[in-house]
Amino acid sequence: MSDDKKPLNQHDDAAHEETIKVLDLYQTREKIQTRKLPGFFRDLRRWTWMPMLSAYFLLPWINLDGRQAIWFDLPARKFYVFWITFWPQDFMLLSWALIISAFALFTATVLVGRVWCGFTCPQTVWTMLFMSIEDFCEGDRNQRIKLDKSPWNVNKLKKRGGKFFLWGLLAFATSLTFVGYYNPVRELVPDMFSLSAHPAAVFWTFFFALLTFMNAGFLREQVCMYMCPYARFQSVMFDKDTLIVSYDIERGEPRGTRKKTANHRADGKGDCVDCSLCVQVCPTGIDIRNGLQYECIDCGLCIDACNTVMDKMDYEPGLIKFTTEHATKHGKTHILRPRFIGYVVALTIMTGAFGYNIFTRMPLEVDIIRDRNVMFRESAMGLVENVYTLKINNMDTKDHRYSIRVEGDHEFSYKGAEQVTVVEGEVMSMPVSVALDPGLMKSPNVDVIFVVESVDDPAINATEENRFIGPRLRR
Ligand code: SF4
Ligand code: SF4
Repeated sequence: MSDDKKPLNQHDDAAHEETIKVLDLYQTREKIQTRKLPGFFRDLRRWTWMPMLSAYFLLPWINLDGRQAIWFDLPARKFYVFWITFWPQDFMLLSWALIISAFALFTATVLVGRVWCGFTCPQTVWTMLFMSIEDFCEGDRNQRIKLDKSPWNVNKLKKRGGKFFLWGLLAFATSLTFVGYYNPVRELVPDMFSLSAHPAAVFWTFFFALLTFMNAGFLREQVCMYMCPYARFQSVMFDKDTLIVSYDIERGEPRGTRKKTANHRADGKGDCVDCSLCVQVCPTGIDIRNGLQYECIDCGLCIDACNTVMDKMDYEPGLIKFTTEHATKHGKTHILRPRFIGYVVALTIMTGAFGYNIFTRMPLEVDIIRDRNVMFRESAMGLVENVYTLKINNMDTKDHRYSIRVEGDHEFSYKGAEQVTVVEGEVMSMPVSVALDPGLMKSPNVDVIFVVESVDDPAINATEENRFIGPRLRR
């Protein structure tokens, strides 16, 4: 690392110096070549991203009742999520689902810091996959740095070409799966390979593939550092009991190299051997010894690296560890604190209300529109008739036969189909009329209630109120 790139507050053996790093606004990004080291947190990350990745790639292939279990059918404006179909009128539910997800993220952040960023965020997971491909094709950190500096030759072309090819395949698979959530994937994939896919599907697949390629291949940590809004406001959620990756400055400083057999305490040195492995493994290229920085995504890889060094030196592990400010200062972390309890209570209430709404949601919607061209008409029998358009929206995942009737304070007679079958996910629209003896009307404008009920499942029913208009009353 060149001198001008040295991190803020860089320590050295002699003294703790504070320097101000001046950055050129248009400074070229220094490529981060990370070192791969085994350890507990690297293994743990595998167990967090593997289920998520498997779910992402496999979910669109699951079929339920003959259709894709998760399918965002934009042309039909319907979102199928397992057994539930969301309609445009369910937009509020979707908004609530997003708000609850955000709140769950905030709650987790208060307790365990940015573990979402370090362990499950798609940006981190795909970057990690792309880095593994890089490692496989171009070798370890030192070999990659050497390759970067070497002039173009057959070997470099082969390695770069292989890497770009595998990146491209992964980006294409990722993008095809993503588009498969919007177009039935079982048709999309064969169509794509037989070159008969819809041009829009082809465009979006290649567009998202390019974004994935650029994002995980080149932008990487810059997305977290400069584009992700969460990284900017996460510090607002932190308190002194939030778990953060922290370097034990008391124990580590003054840092410096030494022989394993040396009595470093007697030499006035701390436990940090200044090997810089914690910096070399960091996906955002920071030095955690400079304290908490907004670039840190809490991935724990520097802990693995440092523990490996501590192990080799026969020192206690934990020079860098997950801890809290309170634990560092007073040896105790308060898990149950007002802020966390507040988040949990709010999250529980919101999740409960959302779950209740989902499970008691009526998969039927009825709309009744009065014919505005004719106020009313009189039949040959002397009855007053009003004409309406009845719309029945079957929001269930199966067909239903519905019975239709009218109710109210008057003895209405209903004229129209008394039972209709509506296919799942369809809206049926039909003209109906209601008649009433004008002599029975207490006012020229009375309420009429339409009741639509599923014949096979009476629990599925809906009512809709409208106005019935008759002639002015003669006094
Ligand atoms: S400082 Fe450590 S925990 Fe933070 S991003 Fe770097 S490696 Fe991960
Ligand atoms: S890995 Fe540990 S010992 Fe090595 S520089 Fe980092 S903090 Fe010091």
